[in-house]
Amino acid sequence: MRGALRLVLGDQLSLQLASLADLDARHDVVLMAEVAEEASHVPHHPQKLVFIFSAMRHFAEALRARGVRVEYVALDDPDNRGSLAAELRRWVERLQPASVQLTETGDWRVEQALRESGVAITWHADTRFICSRQAFARWAAGKRTLRMEFFYREMRKRTGLLLRADGTPEGGVWNLDADNRKPPGRALAGPLQPRFAADAITREVQALVARRFAAHYGRLEGFDYPVTAEEAERLWAHFLDFGLAAFGDYQDAMVAGEPYLFHARISAALNVGLLDPRRLCVEVEAAWRDGRVPLNAAEGFIRQVIGWREYVRGIYWLQMPGYATRNALGNRRALPAFYWTGQTRMNCLRQVIGQTLEHAYAHHIQRLMVTGNFALLAGIVPQQVCDWYLAVYMDAFDWVELPNTLGMLMHADGGYLGSKPYCASGQYIRRMSNYCEGCVYKVNESTTEDACPLNALYWHFLLRHRESLHKNPRMRMSYLSLERMSESKVEALWLRGEQLLAWLDAGEQL
Ligand code: FAD
Ligand code: SF4
Repeated sequence: MRGALRLVLGDQLSLQLASLADLDARHDVVLMAEVAEEASHVPHHPQKLVFIFSAMRHFAEALRARGVRVEYVALDDPDNRGSLAAELRRWVERLQPASVQLTETGDWRVEQALRESGVAITWHADTRFICSRQAFARWAAGKRTLRMEFFYREMRKRTGLLLRADGTPEGGVWNLDADNRKPPGRALAGPLQPRFAADAITREVQALVARRFAAHYGRLEGFDYPVTAEEAERLWAHFLDFGLAAFGDYQDAMVAGEPYLFHARISAALNVGLLDPRRLCVEVEAAWRDGRVPLNAAEGFIRQVIGWREYVRGIYWLQMPGYATRNALGNRRALPAFYWTGQTRMNCLRQVIGQTLEHAYAHHIQRLMVTGNFALLAGIVPQQVCDWYLAVYMDAFDWVELPNTLGMLMHADGGYLGSKPYCASGQYIRRMSNYCEGCVYKVNESTTEDACPLNALYWHFLLRHRESLHKNPRMRMSYLSLERMSESKVEALWLRGEQLLAWLDAGEQL
């Protein structure tokens, strides 16, 4: 074959992909493969599998419509060799291409396997990100711990987003996070969501996933997500019109039965390449300049995308593979079974796990302060927590899931990514949600039989990690409160915490 073989992975579905930039449709071949290894190395939510396979198949069609020859290996193709490296070798042997072109992957494990596949590959930097792996490494060089806030300022300067002509930030401050924590109040509801009906391709994939992955947790039915760039555009336009204005105010709010509130719901589409992050941020800035949305909404959104999203990716590539094994707090407890079923009496966890199993979605604060906070307080092994997050969320890919879970949530990197553990008692959930209203536990009690388990677990966490955490200036207030408590109160909290953890270990329902 005279042309190049261009391998396109399931999270690289963009016509602007670096390794497709000089594609010559007369001679080149694009290879795409659904492989068992990627579909089952953790038990991915069935809707996540449907999303990725359907989006891949639609992307292959979009390339074919442009006259490109695509070799597409379906999961149930009898010749399928089961892994990306094996498929690449098979097609190189068969086609004998002049070169093999590939964009950097999103998963260290996959990139390693392809680099060791024995095939000579021309690698391209992933230009969908604003900060390259090398640029991030230069920024991080010599720093013992990193802070997103300083990285974010650099990114604002580099992109020019929300900057005045003299280079200072619009609004006079870089970060308006303090304005983004409004509690939900009574009867807060987000806008109606656009629907995306399954077409023939998606229905075929749903049948495949039902056949092959019946044992995976999560609901297969009810899939309602964009699988093409055009559909993703419709979801995005809807967010700009109906979600963004209140996104800032209610970013941290949680309401039973309202999984999305004013969140964009675009992360999965963004992560597989159906949307371009730079353009989204430019459009958000324009919405603010036109007076359609307040500054705390625009800044809050842009911070998530050019700040957090780029920051966690930089950390991932800088720290892998060692990062995945970190366990700085020495956790040893297994992930409770209710994470897979939602069967718990704690209403906050039941709501968030329930909606996760239903939609493969939870917003940031639900992931961090409900399922995450419990895992942190209970001392669950970080790697088991990471595997759960990687499996159950539609948008979960290793580069973004791992630093968020292991670093931000579990503090398992010893504070490299974030300055303090995001630990909280039930009071945080009472303030930011309406979950406590429907709970059998009493959120204002700590040591009684029906007291909110998170209260005693919170103090138990602080007590058992006093040695490593009490000097952290951002934990000072919490430890001061502990010091002001009577000995008998501290003793009662410790005993209740011990009892709850023993019940958890015995598999009893909390
Ligand atoms: P919105 O709230 O509307 O935010 C807009 C966009 O900002 C998101 O689509 C996303 O692209 C970006 N963003 C916001 N916060 C982050 C963040 N911390 N890191 C990276 N991007 C961010 N996001 C993923 O895309 N994949 C993951 O696997 C993932 N795992 C997470 C695990 C934990 C423990 C936590 C606390 C957060 C995780 N996040 C992950 C970040 C965040 O929860 C999701 O991006 C967000 O909930 C997606 O919903 P949305 O599109 O409605 O986001
Ligand atoms: Fe969650 Fe405690 Fe509130 Fe129940 S009382 S919903 S367990 S925070």
